[in-house]
Amino acid sequence: MKKTISILPGDGIGPEVMEQTIRIIKKIENKFDHYFTLNHGYIGGAAFEKYGCHFPDTTLHVCKNSDAILFGSVGGPILESHSVKWKDCEKNSILALRKNFQFSSNIRPAKVYPELQDICPLKDSVIGENGIDIVIVRELLGDIYFGEHKSYIIDNIRKAHDISEYDEKQIEIVAHQSFKLAKLRKNKVTSVDKANVLDTSKLWRTILTEISKEYPDVTLEHMLVDNCAMQFFINPSQFDVLVTANLFGDILSDAAAAIPGSLGLMPSASFNVKGFALYEPSGGSAPQIAGKNIANPIAQILSFAMLLKQSFHLIEEANSIEQAVHSTLKAGYRTQDICLNKSKAITTSEITDKILSFI
Ligand code: NAD
Repeated sequence: MKKTISILPGDGIGPEVMEQTIRIIKKIENKFDHYFTLNHGYIGGAAFEKYGCHFPDTTLHVCKNSDAILFGSVGGPILESHSVKWKDCEKNSILALRKNFQFSSNIRPAKVYPELQDICPLKDSVIGENGIDIVIVRELLGDIYFGEHKSYIIDNIRKAHDISEYDEKQIEIVAHQSFKLAKLRKNKVTSVDKANVLDTSKLWRTILTEISKEYPDVTLEHMLVDNCAMQFFINPSQFDVLVTANLFGDILSDAAAAIPGSLGLMPSASFNVKGFALYEPSGGSAPQIAGKNIANPIAQILSFAMLLKQSFHLIEEANSIEQAVHSTLKAGYRTQDICLNKSKAITTSEITDKILSFI
């Protein structure tokens, strides 16, 4: 197969985990006889240094001429977020990319690897015999982020509002995506809303219920978001695919990020209605560990595996990467973020060597 992939390493640990992922890409090309053209683009602070902006036209051009985007991470140290280089960096790069390509949903798996149960913050009794393996589908283009934001003063009282809006088409897209995903997993969708209070949630619930009739094999369950936040920590193994609106998804997917034990393990993908997608680790640029060859490359490597599976339908190739990651962890190799005994941790490039050896 011949395909073109945009490679946008970005800032902080982005370039180093991307460099290791490119080694994995080359191995997959050789082993399975594919040819991937990798077109590199600058984004974030790295782009600012070269072009004076966070998302230059050349990078947009690279993305538009590719079959999928593999993104690293952007942003600088939190304390420097007001400097010219870092101000609005995420907004101008990753949010601009989402807007440009109209990515309407985000998929984020959160699971506990049996080999890494010791770093999951939940007790073994909570993890249970079946383990935890959740996929969160978050709607990305509607809700309170895109309605009117206003701050004003009336009768000397400072007021503000943010309007949340949804239309049925936006909800239908993520509903179909969730049911299709559940069919490949355990046939269960939990739709999370606040339908006891919000009209947008009542519409959400109605549409999910309507669409569920097209997927008779999949069980649909509705859950209020406040209860869901609690269930994450008392009975997380009940979830298979969880679908929710933009704001609730933003918060719940970060809560779920605590479950595997490190952001360095968590891939994610954002899709538009045409199926074009961007794949990236769930975490940020981790500036405090950047440049030391100690970051965990697994989230970036698994983002590439997701790309192979979802965008190129190369299932065997993707499975071979996922299996290699499992084998590496099973053999006891750990980067510092997932290693309880820090003196035994290996580097970013060393753990990639091990993963490569298992592919
Ligand atoms: P972060 O995700 O970068 O780091 C949070 C914690 O997770 C840190 O302890 C970090 O060391 C650890 N971590 C994250 N990825 C890791 C990996 N691969 N290996 C080992 N440890 C890892 O979040 P933050 O510190 O809040 O933000 C840092 C910068 O990243 C900020 O500028 C922020 O705006 C940006 N950010 C970017 C994105 C993105 O590019 N999509 C997402 C979130 C944050």
